[in-house]
Amino acid sequence: AVVAPPLPQGSRLAAAPAEDRQRPGAAEREAAAAAIGAMAGLPLSDVAAHLLDAAGPFARTPAYEHREAQVQMARAVGQTLERRRRLLVEAGTGVGKSLGYLTPLLLWAARTKRRAVVATHTVNLQEQLADRDLPFVNELLPTPLQVAVLKGRSHYISLRRWHRFLAVPDTNGREVDLDAIRFKLKVLAWLTQTRSGDRSELHLSAGEEQYWRRIESSTDDCLGRACANWRTQRCYMVSARRGAADAAIVVTNHALLLADSERQGQVLEAYDALVVDEAHNLEAEATRQLGTSLRNVDLTMVLDRLPALPGGETAQAIEQCREAGRRLFGDVKGFVGERLGGGNPGNGTVALGEDVRAAADFVAVLRAGRHTAGTLTRAAAVLEGASGTATVQAELLPQPERADDELALAAIALRELAGAIERIVCDPRENHVTWLEMRAEQAELHEAPVSVSGPLREHVFDRTDATVLTSATLSVGGSFDFLRHRVGIGDSAEELALASPFDYLSQALCVLPAGVPDYDQPDHEGVIASLVDGIATRLDGHTLVLFTGYGPLKRVHALLSDRLAHSGLAVLGQGLDGTRRQILRSFLDDPRGVLLGTNSFWEGVDIPGERLRCVVIDKLPFPVPSDPLVRARTDLLVDPFGQYILPSAVIRLRQGFGRLIRGREDRGPVFSRPCRRRRWRVCRPRRQVPWSRPS
Ligand code: SF4
Repeated sequence: AVVAPPLPQGSRLAAAPAEDRQRPGAAEREAAAAAIGAMAGLPLSDVAAHLLDAAGPFARTPAYEHREAQVQMARAVGQTLERRRRLLVEAGTGVGKSLGYLTPLLLWAARTKRRAVVATHTVNLQEQLADRDLPFVNELLPTPLQVAVLKGRSHYISLRRWHRFLAVPDTNGREVDLDAIRFKLKVLAWLTQTRSGDRSELHLSAGEEQYWRRIESSTDDCLGRACANWRTQRCYMVSARRGAADAAIVVTNHALLLADSERQGQVLEAYDALVVDEAHNLEAEATRQLGTSLRNVDLTMVLDRLPALPGGETAQAIEQCREAGRRLFGDVKGFVGERLGGGNPGNGTVALGEDVRAAADFVAVLRAGRHTAGTLTRAAAVLEGASGTATVQAELLPQPERADDELALAAIALRELAGAIERIVCDPRENHVTWLEMRAEQAELHEAPVSVSGPLREHVFDRTDATVLTSATLSVGGSFDFLRHRVGIGDSAEELALASPFDYLSQALCVLPAGVPDYDQPDHEGVIASLVDGIATRLDGHTLVLFTGYGPLKRVHALLSDRLAHSGLAVLGQGLDGTRRQILRSFLDDPRGVLLGTNSFWEGVDIPGERLRCVVIDKLPFPVPSDPLVRARTDLLVDPFGQYILPSAVIRLRQGFGRLIRGREDRGPVFSRPCRRRRWRVCRPRRQVPWSRPS
């Protein structure tokens, strides 16, 4: 294992601001091509390190800034590719990890003529790589490679589903659904311009998400080669996949990487090298991808696809499915409500452990689950035996001549839903955890694998010759053991830890205010609101507050709105004043305000410079021990706190802390309530990588 020493304190090797990176000119391209040609016989790692070196050809490009840690990373990634090994690289903020892995990766692909995949967690990073970093390196190669971006399937519109949605009347009960009409007009205008069919161009609001779900490309509602849009090459999803199949480098996301592994490589096609960026999220994403979540709307969306002729066997089967679904999810809602104390339960979960399954009050849910699974299976058999044109109003289908295919596709979807209900409610699988949940007044059924290390090892890591996992936060207390075991990459993977070049000792201040009541005390939120009020008033806004739950965010938002009403400072709450993207844009345009964000604000949010002067952390981000998945995972451990709860919190806290210092000019305090009650205390971080040791 290789662990690089931290950079000297006060090091000034800082990253160039992302937006400053400019495309190389002809002279730089010539110099790079000449250097690569002259070093053709040298190891890949040496060539990559030379290109990024202070005297190398990349240094001639405008706004390029040499970073020693980046060169170390490029060398290590190059060696990993050449030796067909596995590598874990933690590269602190400002190291420039994108160029640190893209430079050797593109050189390797150009030399070997083999394919590589880069997978990120967030679409933001995916777009940054595709729009800026990848073209920068690619243009410096003697012969640029073909590269492609492939997002998850649901990012692309399905034209067949869109035509079906367009034909549906825009009523919400008896009312005209103006939001649906507005959404349709927006999509109609967009379709005249888009070349990608990618939803990111639409900038959907939170309210429009429900409509997008009805037109996004979806595995369980795709006719494949039988679809007219497939044959005419108009399908955006198919075009994106065709483009990716021909590319030497494919930039995708964790979800698609895992979907590909489930489908035996049919999505991404064969590749020989893999770089997973933001790899600290890999376990969570694999859990989501390999698990199941089910709501009644998932069933009704399948049933709504079939405009059955009234009175026939198909119409009857569809109606029985609707009724069974209503009953099941109604019973789940009642059960969860009672278990959580009666009345309207709001948000909450009930784990389906053996004790709950054996309890008398679960019998109604179990019966409803069996009944629904049976009804769906019987309905699937009816659809499989029916003739399309004789049982559905074919003229209402997007492709009337494909009515039989529509029935067959719906039958497959119903069987899958029946199987999921069986697994979650009636007959749980080994090594899986199941739970019932209420969220936004909707009942949900969930199943997740307790461990994802086996599937990741077998279907992702063992598939490639060389694998690199990287992130700004992979280690805990200087050790990579937590990540290594959680994702199952194996003991042979080498390690490299590269400290951030930022001078945290002089740039950051940790403030641990005494007197903040415990999180579960009634006055906790009032004190947090008062603290934020004081900070924001002194700093003229420019403050980000991070929450671990949506409830506290809403209550602090209400309190702060009152307190700051006459100050001229805006209070921007995630989900209250807009989507994450919208409030972030508002804050970037005018930082005279307080930005309140929950889970997705802890990482991937980049507010460089003066705009952000302070971060307040409402509560240390420990996983909730009563969460069914957390409980199932910690039950298997000798030391649940030390082996799971604490390392998870450390990684998340480091991400949250990292929102503040994004460049060498950034300065400011991070306020966080300490674990134990103590007096007001101000301390400076003692290490370059803040809070990386449990102590
Ligand atoms: S091929 Fe599939 S995703 Fe594409 S338009 Fe047809 S049904 Fe939709």
